[in-house]
Amino acid sequence: MSEIEIPEDHPRYQSLLTRHRIEAGVEKGITSKQGLIAEGRGEAFDYLLGERTTESADAAERAAAAQLLLADHPVLSVNGNVAALVAEEIVDLAETVDANIEINLFNRTEERMEAIAAHLREHGAEDVKGLTADGRIPNLSHERAKVDADGIGAADVVLVPLEDGDRAEALGEMGKTEIVIDLNPLSRSAQVAAIPIVDNIMRAVPNMTAHARDLQGADHETLAEIVDGFNPEAALRAAEAAIREGELA
Ligand code: ATP
Repeated sequence: MSEIEIPEDHPRYQSLLTRHRIEAGVEKGITSKQGLIAEGRGEAFDYLLGERTTESADAAERAAAAQLLLADHPVLSVNGNVAALVAEEIVDLAETVDANIEINLFNRTEERMEAIAAHLREHGAEDVKGLTADGRIPNLSHERAKVDADGIGAADVVLVPLEDGDRAEALGEMGKTEIVIDLNPLSRSAQVAAIPIVDNIMRAVPNMTAHARDLQGADHETLAEIVDGFNPEAALRAAEAAIREGELA
């Protein structure tokens, strides 16, 4: 039995576990009610994808791992859904690629920031950024623009899972290389990403960590070749095709 008292071989196990974690996140004050809606949207796309990591998503996850290893200052951005779903897995990825973790909320409240920071620390995070908020993303309204100057403000590569389109666009305009995880290949966040990953974050983050471990000893040229060989438009087309033409079980 697992954390939801359902056997792991139950056909709906992953989906039920996801819902359970989001619900627990809302109860714990880390996920907003809007986050419940975002989860519902994501689930619909995941269902159409066959709840699997497609070959093209796996290639995107490998390119993302290479890009994070190449970065001078990578930052993993965490919101309420990300914290609820993959806190431990994000900490693991941050350690593997030597990245900062920064809390970055669309609906920012001090209570939720603190609750998420505590939740991440419970899952092993040592340094959690986002609480200082002494930097700004240009061209966004005040609350939505807040970042840490020495976190996302100074980052060259940012992982922004389940991000709002406006902010993803504004971060791109700041010259950040963006890796986006979003199950909707048509969302603006996915469209503006250098590396869009169309996969469930529950599968995507551990798979990125596995790729990063595999690539850890690789030299600069090898990593750069993997990144340069990745084509974001082709990845989005493949994801959309898989959703439109998918063979449902
Ligand atoms: P955009 O402005 O980029 O078009 P949006 O504001 O319409 O996005 P939201 O409703 O905020 O999007 O939801 C965030 C996105 O996160 C949705 O596109 C949804 O498919 C995606 N999403 C939700 N849950 C997951 C998950 N578990 N894994 C990956 N993506 C997810």
